Amino acid sequence: MELAAATGGPDYYYPNKMVRIILLAMEEVMGRNGVNAVLNLAQLKHLVNNFPPNNFDRQVTFSDLGALMHALDEMYGPRGGRGLGLRAGRACFKYGLKEFGPVLGIADLAFRLLPLHMKLKVGADVFAETFNKFSDQVVRLGEAEETFIWEIVRCPICWHRHSETPCCSLAVGILQEALYWVSGGKNFEVYETTCVACGDELCTIVIEKKPLD
Ligand SMILES: [Zn+2]
Repeated sequence: MELAAATGGPDYYYPNKMVRIILLAMEEVMGRNGVNAVLNLAQLKHLVNNFPPNNFDRQVTFSDLGALMHALDEMYGPRGGRGLGLRAGRACFKYGLKEFGPVLGIADLAFRLLPLHMKLKVGADVFAETFNKFSDQVVRLGEAEETFIWEIVRCPICWHRHSETPCCSLAVGILQEALYWVSGGKNFEVYETTCVACGDELCTIVIEKKPLD
C-alpha cells in the first residue's frame, strides 16, 4: 500500500468535532502514546496532544484523515490496522452519540417503540443524514431484501489511498456499534464490499438485516 500523491483537486472537510471523536476513540483503543505515534507517522504533528476543538467548524481535510487511517495500517500492518480501526469505530459511536444523540431524536420513546426493521431503517437514515449535513462526506442509503447498503460516495477514510483490500474499517466499526445500540443489543454482519482505495467507484458497506444472535 502506498499513499497516492495529492491530486491538486479541491479538498473536502470534516468538522473538528468529528475528528476529535475519532482521535478520542483511537486513544481509548491504543492509548495516548499510540495515537501520538500514528499522528507523527501521518505527518500530523500539529494534532499531537492537541486534538481539534469541540465545534462544528469544518477544518480538517479528507487528505489528513486518509493519511491518519493509512498510518494506522502502516504501523500495525493491514490486518492489525483494520482490527484497531474496527475497535476505534465502535468507540467512535459511543462518543458520537453523546455529541449528536440529542439532535438526532433516536433516543426518543417513539423511536424505541418501533419494530426492529423500522428501527434499523430509520436509524441508518438518520446516521447517513448526520454525515451528509455536518461534513463533506456523502452517504447514500440503499436497501435490498435482506440487506441495507451504505454507500459512501465521498469517503474520507480512504481518501488518496491505494489498497489491495477494502480499508474503511473505521466506518464498518461505527455502523456495527450503531446497529448494536439501535437494536437494543443485537449484533449484525457488516462488511465492506467495494472501496475507492481498491479502484472502485465508491465505498460500499453491506449490512445484513437479520441479527446474528
Ligand atoms: Zn472508503
